[in-house]
Amino acid sequence: MSLAALAREHGTPLFVYSKQWMLDALGAYQRGFDGRDALICYAMKANSSLGVLRVFAEAGCGFDIVSGGELSRALAVGADPARIIFSGVGKTRAEMKQALDAGIGCFNVESEAELDVLNEVASTSNQRARISIRINPNVDPKTHPYISTGLKGNKFGIAHDRALHAYRHAAKLPGLDVVGIDCHIGSQITEMSPYLDACERILDLVEAIEAAGVPIRHLDFGGGLGIDYNGEVPPAADALWKQLLARLDARGFGNRKLIIEPGRSLVGNAGVCVTEVLYVKPGEDKNFCIIDAAMNDLPRPAMYQAFQNIVPLQMRSGGSDERTIYDVVGPICESGDWIGRDRSLNVEAGDLLAVLSSGAYCMSMSSNYNTRGRAAEVMVSGARATLIRRRETLEDQLRSELPREG
Ligand code: PLP
Repeated sequence: MSLAALAREHGTPLFVYSKQWMLDALGAYQRGFDGRDALICYAMKANSSLGVLRVFAEAGCGFDIVSGGELSRALAVGADPARIIFSGVGKTRAEMKQALDAGIGCFNVESEAELDVLNEVASTSNQRARISIRINPNVDPKTHPYISTGLKGNKFGIAHDRALHAYRHAAKLPGLDVVGIDCHIGSQITEMSPYLDACERILDLVEAIEAAGVPIRHLDFGGGLGIDYNGEVPPAADALWKQLLARLDARGFGNRKLIIEPGRSLVGNAGVCVTEVLYVKPGEDKNFCIIDAAMNDLPRPAMYQAFQNIVPLQMRSGGSDERTIYDVVGPICESGDWIGRDRSLNVEAGDLLAVLSSGAYCMSMSSNYNTRGRAAEVMVSGARATLIRRRETLEDQLRSELPREG
């Protein structure tokens, strides 16, 4: 499949995804859980485009959602509500009601106050909300501070020390049905040890909670497994789960229902963003390669100083390879609008580049900053390429703004 041909047909910037890559990534998890009672809930915040969700829904995945909007997206692709879990620190009453009415599998509750509000919302409509409490195990995931979520200073989950108290409280609330426990310690984790440490701490808690008379039917270990952006070698999903399952078996939890919430590792390396070089601009200190993709399309570098590989889609005629060191930047009026720093490239205006590893946390985090329309998206499956999102028009952007003339 020629990315250049797709770019010619659909324009740039253009996200292109490989369905097979997604299914292979999912396959590694499925192999890891072979013979176990396990539910893989794709964390759709990583990429919530309907065409991507459809791939995972058809493959039998559940979904991890963080808003009423994400719930609607999951239901729109035919997801089984019983396989949907609802995470997030700030669920509103309206979102709780929407999820209860849809019959979702479990709320991952992130604070004691949320337990009380959910109890109230469920009781008012004569329902019972199945819940698990997200524990903050205070384990360092050894990743970027903005994507660490399981440390004491993070806003997520209930502190390990408060957990038993919270479970006792939840078990007494008539609108709640305690079914599980969960943790998610961060994202882009490239080592096994943080998972193993978190697992031990969660199992210690489960023993204490069950000793207090509250049965825990499922264990949810979140997502977070990293991908290769710049030579990182994270453990394979099946290898990671082999180790984790050995721990669970050793401690007598091997038959417990398991849930996981992977996002990035299912889609990150399945996608690239194809972009055109608009201008090459030599500077006093730096040379700039100005492309038509920007921080509104690819927010990760600006947000987390993240690295994404950038490769040209054409060879220079004559085969010369005279490279220059460029900062690859977008057209947005922000110095933070860079996609790659100090990249060695042989490029000229009109060339196409592919920004790699753009399947996760790119389109789903994109914005209209500078009144830029969101990019188009194409899903490739074998020899077929399907447009799954058309390029956003100015009319799309202006539609919700008032007052409108004419
Ligand atoms: N679960 C929860 C609660 C999360 O907050 C996140 C990401 O922020 C995920 C799962 C998915 O993480 P990842 O994409 O790193 O697998």
